[in-house]
Amino acid sequence: MKVFLSADMEGTCGIVSWPETERSTPMDYTPAQKQMTREVAAACRGALAAGAEEVLVKDAHDSARNLDPAGLPRGIKMNRSWSGDPLSMMSGLDKDSYGAVFFTGYHAWAGCPGNPLSHTMNGRNDHVTLNGTLCSEFLINSYTAGYYGVPVALVTGDQALCDFAKTLIPAITTVPVNVGRGGSVTSLHPDEAVERIEAAAKEAVAKADQCIVPMPEHFHMEIDFFKHHVAYSKSFYPGAVLKDDKFVCFDSDDWFEMLRFCHFVLSDA
Ligand SMILES: [Zn+2]
Repeated sequence: MKVFLSADMEGTCGIVSWPETERSTPMDYTPAQKQMTREVAAACRGALAAGAEEVLVKDAHDSARNLDPAGLPRGIKMNRSWSGDPLSMMSGLDKDSYGAVFFTGYHAWAGCPGNPLSHTMNGRNDHVTLNGTLCSEFLINSYTAGYYGVPVALVTGDQALCDFAKTLIPAITTVPVNVGRGGSVTSLHPDEAVERIEAAAKEAVAKADQCIVPMPEHFHMEIDFFKHHVAYSKSFYPGAVLKDDKFVCFDSDDWFEMLRFCHFVLSDA
């Protein structure tokens, strides 16, 4: 089987502040970028050791030019920067090519105290709900995997997100590397995070068949924008509804239509 790996950064071991995730602040960013690459490399090594033929690594944070490809093992392919399609952090996934999805460096959702950097897609919303549940990027991207029938077998990141992942997909393998408290995180030793992720990736490949994402029959999303004028503007997306001046709502039975809505209303800068 091939594995599709979507790599974010805010759930990388030890990361606690925005400058550590931004290329414009290299003193903070460089060590964090190095650890992100080490964790993705560990997940790739584990998958390949467990028999995966190939891992497609989608760099999925900010510029999508964070990982050092030379730090990853042979046997992978890399997707860098953004294609511009609605799959976004899952760009490149399809229904036939992959036997498992891995998420590394993932983080808690907007409104969750489990990570000082909690957010959901752009920074213009207070929170997002999907079918009444506070919505993370993990949830959106898991439904994209589910839409194509690909199991979600591994997530690494903060403890709050790993706990949520188990409620959605009980058989998923998780590696919590950070525990958030207020503006702080308590993390594993970076080498220990790497070791745990490699072992977990092996286990995840073996258990992938048990990790099918349960797909709801209908999707209802509400985005609570910080600014009423942004909500007003976004409410002109076809089919969207403005509620209480700052919530933009959208309904569909088709997950791809929800992704298209997210692409134009939730993902942009
Ligand atoms: Zn990110």
